[in-house]
Amino acid sequence: MKILSINAGSSSLKFSLINMENESVIANGVFERIGIDGQYTIKFNGEKYTEEVTLKDHNDAVNILLEKLINLNIVKSLDEIDGVGHRVVQGKDLFDKSVIVDDEVMKKLDSIKHFAPLHNPANMLGIEAFKKALPNVPNTVVFDTAFHQTMSKETFLYPVPYDWYQKYGIRKYGAHGTSHRYINETMTKILNTNKFKLISCHIGNGASITAIKDGKCVDTSMGFTPLAGVMMGTRSGDVDPSILPPVMEAENKNIDQIINDLNKHSGILGLSGISSDMRDLTEAYNKSDEKAILTMRKYARRITDYIAQYYVLLGGADAIVFTAGIGENSFIVRKLVCDNLKCLGVELDDDKNSNCHGQAKISTKNSKVQVYVIPTDEELMIARDTLELIK
Ligand code: ADP
Repeated sequence: MKILSINAGSSSLKFSLINMENESVIANGVFERIGIDGQYTIKFNGEKYTEEVTLKDHNDAVNILLEKLINLNIVKSLDEIDGVGHRVVQGKDLFDKSVIVDDEVMKKLDSIKHFAPLHNPANMLGIEAFKKALPNVPNTVVFDTAFHQTMSKETFLYPVPYDWYQKYGIRKYGAHGTSHRYINETMTKILNTNKFKLISCHIGNGASITAIKDGKCVDTSMGFTPLAGVMMGTRSGDVDPSILPPVMEAENKNIDQIINDLNKHSGILGLSGISSDMRDLTEAYNKSDEKAILTMRKYARRITDYIAQYYVLLGGADAIVFTAGIGENSFIVRKLVCDNLKCLGVELDDDKNSNCHGQAKISTKNSKVQVYVIPTDEELMIARDTLELIK
């Protein structure tokens, strides 16, 4: 069984072709600059193929991808593709799990596209392109929000006028659900039980922390949009909305411009003035740059705040997991966060933390909470869901 896992953005389309017999990646890559000019990169068998091609729209990207799968001998026939799984950013409260695409699903997706205007319409273009190019192959949709649908009303409501929720759907939806679910599945295998309390920290350029009890999401740090929660690469995370009017007035900005500042010019980039990239921040931190030290400490503090909050919410924690670009690679961030959590009995094994590559337990034997690093794999999760649905 071979499954294509697809992540379509407004001007890009990422793919992974996965062999589900052993869950290995056969080929992966990205089509970029769709609607601008166009180029693709495909990685297969240790080789990297890059070419500039005209990509007028997502149909062009999908057609060229399928052509290349044959021409590069990645598959002998397109019949080898058993299903195509699509990442969709926002499923609102209409989807609490992955589903096979049909007309009803497309209608529902269309009705909620304005809740993620930068992402959902692009995800839908990807689905339409595959429906056209491979009409006999089932498509599935896997939502970033679905895993968080188990949050209670008490948790997902904002303390604002209730009719904002009823009339406009204003509530917490969360994101990164596919990644948090993958982490939960992996921890289920490691701990050999599905009854445990887990705090999953997906810390990449975007970042979210999720509290999980017995496999179900109890709370998550992102909100109505991914702007909420912890501090991120360029996003502020939670701030007091009253800071906006004085800045708007002083800088003569409208609401879209100021929200753009919170999304694109805040977080690590905004506070440090150095970069949004943790590698650049780390370099400056290691040179004792004052702003970098402040930013790094603030960054670790915001993650700690959420872990501590969820520790109380869950009534303790069996494990804390770090994942995504920063969670998997920055031993400094993990160290600063875990040092902040010493009062909860969290004890890091400094050697294991500093020398960790890939999946590892990085807490000591005596630590009251086990701490793990687990590389996330959203593409595999999408493929697993797709396989399950088409079986
Ligand atoms: P995205 O949210 O875009 O998927 P990623 O999960 O790829 O982001 O994470 C990107 C972040 O991971 C960047 O801030 C990058 O600097 C950081 N990162 C990647 N490798 C390292 C590393 N070796 N050390 C520290 N940070 C790293």
